[in-house]
Amino acid sequence: MEMNLPAARHPAVQAFLDQGDRPMLVGGAWVAGGAERWMEARDPATGERLARFPDSDTSDVDRAVSAARAAFEAGVWPAMTPSQRGRILWRVAELIEAHLEELAELETLDQGKPLWVGKFAEIPGAVEQFRFFAGQASRIEGHTVPTSINYQPPGKEVFAYTVKQPVGVVAAIVPWNSPLVLTAMKLAPALAAGCTVVLKPAEDTSLTALRLGELMVEAGLPPGVLNIVTGRGDVVGAALAAHPDVDKLSFTGSTQVGRSVLAAAAGNLKKVTLELGGKSPVIVLADADLDAAIAGAANAIFFNSGQVCVAGSRLYVHRDVYTQVVAGIAEVARGLKLGHGLDGATQIGPLVSRKQADRVAAYIRQAEAQGARVVAGGRQLGPQGTFIEPTVLVDVRPDMACVREEIFGPVVVVSPIDSLDEALALANDTDYGLAASVWTRDLSSGHRAAARLKAGTVWLNTHLMFDASLPIGGMKQSGWGRESGQGAVENFLELKTVCAVL
Ligand code: NAD
Repeated sequence: MEMNLPAARHPAVQAFLDQGDRPMLVGGAWVAGGAERWMEARDPATGERLARFPDSDTSDVDRAVSAARAAFEAGVWPAMTPSQRGRILWRVAELIEAHLEELAELETLDQGKPLWVGKFAEIPGAVEQFRFFAGQASRIEGHTVPTSINYQPPGKEVFAYTVKQPVGVVAAIVPWNSPLVLTAMKLAPALAAGCTVVLKPAEDTSLTALRLGELMVEAGLPPGVLNIVTGRGDVVGAALAAHPDVDKLSFTGSTQVGRSVLAAAAGNLKKVTLELGGKSPVIVLADADLDAAIAGAANAIFFNSGQVCVAGSRLYVHRDVYTQVVAGIAEVARGLKLGHGLDGATQIGPLVSRKQADRVAAYIRQAEAQGARVVAGGRQLGPQGTFIEPTVLVDVRPDMACVREEIFGPVVVVSPIDSLDEALALANDTDYGLAASVWTRDLSSGHRAAARLKAGTVWLNTHLMFDASLPIGGMKQSGWGRESGQGAVENFLELKTVCAVL
């Protein structure tokens, strides 16, 4: 496998990396962490060491939570007018946009994804989150409420209303697959609501979060409103989830860790939202535009090497067109160019780490051992063993691990179906409920399927369409609550009732 890299890096990326040790943000200061232990960021394609960042401990978490608490109670941020908060969030959006090339390149180096994924999808997605929620800051409203209280004092009137107030100190825990945009999906609504935040990026991808922190300080965010604590999930993440002075936990990650943070959050009954794993079905009916369906189903699983929570990892195809669709998606898989994310020709980058690539490869080997057939891909490649070929598996049974469990790599399992009813039964036969797509030319079949699919998002004749205005999140074990969209700011608000006798 060729590893073509540009001769020079973006100057701002080089300057960021040249500093070597990248401190974290606590109470407005860039600090090393009490124990001064460091973790390494490495390029997953080449293994090159990029920078170091703090390997924090629980005392660092305590300091960051105290800083966020002080900033919340001192009221600098929650007491600002919504318009002032909105202006700072808008400025964050402008700064991310101005640094788009730099942030996309830094994300590629740290995470592995092809540069175009960051440039055209994820970094613009982060910009739009801040723009959308900049406006939402001014749309947080309560109601006046008519009452019918039969024991109100004679001759008096009751005046009742509701107000929405920021929930307080938020812990935001983010995974490694799309680091910057997933961070923006938490920070933008939390800050619009007037909360203060302690952010924990994933240990494999902390660099763009630290750079974003610099840009947010530059945008005018007051000290302590955003704190970033880097480090291990089972240390920093676990301490945040259990922390008695954190009011709200906003977690994105695996269902397994989601369960453990939920248990940890029970101590002080902090509010919790969870964006968890998925095993999203793609249904291709016999009347679908097959060229579009094949390209769409391939993109649904191979985009970002399948490291997407809503990846279309189970493909159900009507038997009449099954052979054609399997051949089509296998051809797409074989034609995709693997390479370093900074190589302009690359369509598929490495997975985030050797550990993740080994995990995905093990699923493929296990599926083969259980009787599945690999019709495209299947190999683990690259100097670090971090690349997985886009892989198409057929002859699978509903009870196999490759059909039931989230692989989180470029691996799709394909099964024939004979009717929409059968497709829906199989599609819903999962613990997950994050997303689904249906490919058909028949509007009635499409909307009927949309009604019956147990998934937080249903796409018709497309897959992977996101917008800051569109709620996203899961049913069943894919999570609690939704991010993006007007309602997302409610995740960070408390409703207060005021009832007065006049
Ligand atoms: P993960 O659950 O291993 O880690 C997620 C985050 O939690 C990381 O920051 C990690 O350090 C932290 N963490 C790990 N152990 C912890 C603990 N004991 N307590 C507290 N925090 C802990 O997930 P991952 O492997 O980084 O990411 C992939 C997963 O994320 C997939 O399951 C994917 O589907 C999911 N995901 C979901 C969405 C969504 O919107 N539903 C979006 C992206 C990714």
